[in-house]
This record gives sequence, structure tokens and C-alpha cells, in this order.
Amino acid sequence: MEKVVIIGTGCAGLTAALYTARANLSPLVFTGMMPGGLLTTTSIVENYPGFPDGVDGYELMTRMQKQAERFGARVKFGTVEAVDLSIRPFRLTVDGEELESETIIIASGAGHKHLGLESEDQLEKKGVTYCATCDGALPMFRNQPLVVVGGGDSACEEATYLTRFASVVYVVHRRGNMRASKIMADRTLSHARIEPIWNSVVTEILDVKQDKVTGVKLRNIETNAESELACAGVFVAIGHIPNTQLFRGQIEMDEHGYIKPRRGTETNVPGVFVAGDCADAVYRQAVTAAGLGCAAAIDVERYLAKLDK
Ligand code: NAP
Repeated sequence: MEKVVIIGTGCAGLTAALYTARANLSPLVFTGMMPGGLLTTTSIVENYPGFPDGVDGYELMTRMQKQAERFGARVKFGTVEAVDLSIRPFRLTVDGEELESETIIIASGAGHKHLGLESEDQLEKKGVTYCATCDGALPMFRNQPLVVVGGGDSACEEATYLTRFASVVYVVHRRGNMRASKIMADRTLSHARIEPIWNSVVTEILDVKQDKVTGVKLRNIETNAESELACAGVFVAIGHIPNTQLFRGQIEMDEHGYIKPRRGTETNVPGVFVAGDCADAVYRQAVTAAGLGCAAAIDVERYLAKLDK
């Protein structure tokens, strides 16, 4: 039986792995479908302390994993398919195999939010994408007009990154000003090849019939005017949804699916702890996720110590 299983290898999961490994708990850590978490889809992370020149997201996560493994964390590629939190020890099914653990740290992160359009689903990977650093350099996007949807830091980051390849980047945002941090918004809006399209929403992505992206239909939400904009790609950057479906009905969550910690990182199920973006709709930063991963590890250590008494 395991002492602690950690679900997720983003900043929260790997920091929890580092701390529980150094507490001699030999954590078993499952990567899920995206080893390293969402940060591996970012180019340069400029706001993680200790890296004055920024650090590549993939490199940062690789370093975190190596650091945790150095102290005995066992990081395995695998997806937790089922959990039973109603019995002790807890039961997990990972890629068809069952295992038991005294404690669990949920650090399953968040995924990209979709616009919810039928044409978006139909054209995914055919010009619709959720990650500029993953897909921006594809030949189909070179020297073409591209659309980024959103007004937060992610949209700014995507748009700025895409200027390396695109002829022009249109940022379509449903408000009249960016939600992004001022430094990122200023950098984005002052770029010669980025053009904001304010107060507008994408109502359809064209052209399903041609099986590729050729443009978007837009609606101005103030005037209701409809228009079309030619583009070769649509990069959706409108935020995230927590990866918590697995725990629905077994653990307390808010109406958006974010797990609700009770005290520190404790959940309503004793022995189950939570850290990072799956429980944080407010800060959602790499450094806050890492901090919460550390806190969850300390909470697990104290919980197990009490059980041993
Ligand atoms: P966000 O701050 O929640 O922004 C999402 C944006 O998408 C908002 O402008 C929102 O519009 C818009 N939006 C949401 N749903 C929409 C829909 N259905 N249709 C059209 N537009 C929609 O998310 P984020 O930009 O991913 O940032 C998340 C967190 O990560 C933030 O704390 C951010 O600071 C951080 N982050 C930091 C960096 C960095 O520092 N390098 C990079 C990326 C993200 P409204 O404004 O109208 O709500």
C-alpha cells in the first residue's frame, strides 16, 4: 500500500512530490495525459521567481521532476481513471490496475476552456487550437492572418508569440479593454502586427465544408453588427476549467468544479488533500500552485504522523 499518491505533475503536483519525498514518504506520482501540466505549453515563463531572464515552461517542469526524483519520488506516466474515497485505504484505478493509498494529493490542474461552438469542435486541429507554442509554427499558419480569442494574459501571450509567424494577429475580445495585467496588455496592444477587435464574439468558425479554417464570423455585442474576418487559424485563449470530473460526487466542489479546501489544503474527506489550479479559481499562477503543493505535502506528513501515534 502507498503512503501517498499524487495525481498530477504540474507545479503543484511536483512540488508536493518534492516535499513528500524529502519527508521519506516515497510518493507515487501520476502524470495524467499532460506530463508537466499546462506550463509545458507556455514558451517563456517570466514570472517564476529565481529566473531573471525567464525560463522555458517545459524546462522548468523537467527540472522540477528531476528534483523530486532525486529525493525518491516515483513519477509514472499514467492516468487515474477511477477513485473510491469512501473506503480506507483509498482505492485508485490507474490504466486498468488497482492500487491503495493512505492519502491522496489531488493536483490535477485545469484544461483549456472551449468557446462551445459546433464549428470549433469540427475544426479542432484543422486550424482551431488552444496552444500557440504547440501549434503556432505549423506551416499552415505561416504568413497568414490569425485570430486569438480572449482578453486575459493567456490571450496576450498567444498573440505576441504568434507575431513570429503570422502576417497579422487579430485579438477578438468581448469587452472594450483587456483583462490582462497591464504590462502584458501594453506589450500586446503596442505591437505593430497585433490588431484588437473589441466588444466582439466569434459566432462561427469557417469553413467546416472545406475542412479547414478560412475565417470567423463575428458579432459586435454593442451594435449586434455581424461581420466576417478571413484567417487561417483560431487560437482560443479564454481561460481554463478544473480537471476534477473524476472526483465529482465524492468531494466538495463549487459550481464551476473547483475543489473546495476546508482548512489549508484539507478537503472534506480526511486524508485527501488538494493543491493548485484544480482548487484555485483566483490566483492560478505557477508559483501559487507550487506553494500550495508544498502546503499539501506538509499537511499529508502531519496527517500521517497523527495516524501513526
Ligand atoms: P482569464 O484571466 O480568466 O481570462 C480569460 C479571458 O477570456 C477573459 O478576457 C474573458 O473575458 C474571456 N472569455 C472567457 N470566456 C469566454 C467566452 N466564452 N467567450 C469569449 N471570451 C471569453 O484567463 P487567462 O488569460 O488564461 O489567465 C488565467 C491566469 O493565468 C491569470 O491569473 C493570468 O494572470 C495567468 N497567466 C499568466 C501568464 C504570464 O504571466 N505569463 C500567462 C498566462 C496566464 P472577460 O474579460 O469578459 O471575462
